[in-house]
Amino acid sequence: MRLLHNARIYTLDVAQPMATAIIIDSGNILAVGGDELLDECGRTEREDMNGQVILPGLTDAHIHLQEYALSLRIVDCEVETKDEVLRRVSGIIRETPRGDWVRGHGWNQNDWGGEWPTATDLETATPENPAYLTAKSLHAAWVNCTALRLAGINPSTPDPVNGHIQRDGNGIPTGILFEEAVKLVESVIPEPTPEDLAESIQNIIPGLWRMGLTGIHDFDKRTCFQALQLLRERGDLHLRVVKSIPFESLPDAVGLGLRSGFGDDFLRIGSVKFFADGALGPHTGAMFEPYVDEPQNRGILILDNEQLFDHGRLAVENGLSLAVHAIGDRAVHEVVEGFTRLRHYEREHKFPSLRHRIEHVQMIHPDDAWRLAEFEIIASMQPIHVLSDMLMADRLLDDRAANSYAWRTLAHSGARLAFGSDAPVESPNPFWGLHSAVTRRRADGFPGPDGWFPEQRLTVREALEGFTMCPAYLSGMEHRLGRLSPGFLADLIVINTDPFLCDPTELRNIQPTATMVDGEWVWHL
Ligand SMILES: [Zn+2]
Repeated sequence: MRLLHNARIYTLDVAQPMATAIIIDSGNILAVGGDELLDECGRTEREDMNGQVILPGLTDAHIHLQEYALSLRIVDCEVETKDEVLRRVSGIIRETPRGDWVRGHGWNQNDWGGEWPTATDLETATPENPAYLTAKSLHAAWVNCTALRLAGINPSTPDPVNGHIQRDGNGIPTGILFEEAVKLVESVIPEPTPEDLAESIQNIIPGLWRMGLTGIHDFDKRTCFQALQLLRERGDLHLRVVKSIPFESLPDAVGLGLRSGFGDDFLRIGSVKFFADGALGPHTGAMFEPYVDEPQNRGILILDNEQLFDHGRLAVENGLSLAVHAIGDRAVHEVVEGFTRLRHYEREHKFPSLRHRIEHVQMIHPDDAWRLAEFEIIASMQPIHVLSDMLMADRLLDDRAANSYAWRTLAHSGARLAFGSDAPVESPNPFWGLHSAVTRRRADGFPGPDGWFPEQRLTVREALEGFTMCPAYLSGMEHRLGRLSPGFLADLIVINTDPFLCDPTELRNIQPTATMVDGEWVWHL
């Protein structure tokens, strides 16, 4: 048993919102209260929290764990000189087993005076590892001699269709590949094995604890699931993971009889993930009205409500909930329509009402907003996206930008909002997300004191629920996770700034001093 006392505990439990002490036993919260708890348990291990704030552990409800873990192994090549790239590459190979691929991204020879780097340059930095460094533009790659050899690229290799292999005066490939030619190398880089990935994931979990995360909902695929199972088997998964199923595996999941919620407190099956459209940047998000700069283009609808209903029926008949990616207002509309029909179907056939979710909901038609609450469709959103997207949304959507990232509209209608980051698209730091949800301002204060469409800002309490109670609800664990109440799992974080009292601009800088998962301190300063 463990007693934490002299703390400011925000429980998120309406029955007892504040406390100063908490008793934890075997991974569970036994009691939450005041100084009377000190008298109640004489022989308990006591920890004085020195007045620090305690919150429930935070969950990122939309992350790509495999991609994020691998992205952290990619050498950042966005630097001012070629020598600096080579120095960084040399640095990383000290920790890279011989023969493993070194990957990097972000170089631009124009930053170094325009001269192209060569395979030989790179070979001197990584003589025993193949190296593949993509350019900032992603339209070129710089590889070393080992990589050229493994890809079978030699003076007699022809340029592929829509691609070019740069060659010197003697026709010898220089190590720079353009467009489709990069695939000659990319295709020989082995996929990580589940064991490799398990190791990479294990290495990044402390970084997540450090940010205040004790749980995630993952949207990567098979290898990631295998890696997570390996970690769980070994007892090394000290992070609550809800694992989605890719849509192409729906028949397999049905065939196996797998249901949402199957698993244990650390690794459980989530929803089947479908896509209804593309994204805003490439103009593929499906819209009711065209993009401002492309008057003929309303994006691409991948899944309409009819198709969603068909897949959805199979899923709900088999106890599987759905998570559907929808960015544009038309896509969101189709998904809401499909889910509405699915709710009627569930009721008609006496199936349980499953925890269906829409991923992103970047734009919503005002007429659709209330329907999320009405039909218990959960909006899984990423508050940090607004910071990267606000200028693009102004440009591409004009007045309709007012209906984008519409957290307040949705919360006001009674919808549940779950928050995440979509890492590695953005940092998974939940305090950056919290700050964005509350201020709608970038770190530098842009676009001004009130933020972008200030009427859509949330309160700290609402935003925190998006990182705690709502993800717990999505995973069917709302009676055991997401709050600090007796009988709940003991996942919590200690922070030295009070998010309810500090200036909202400071929310972004909050850093935990300690993180507890399942009753154990897994990380502390
Ligand atoms: Zn995603």
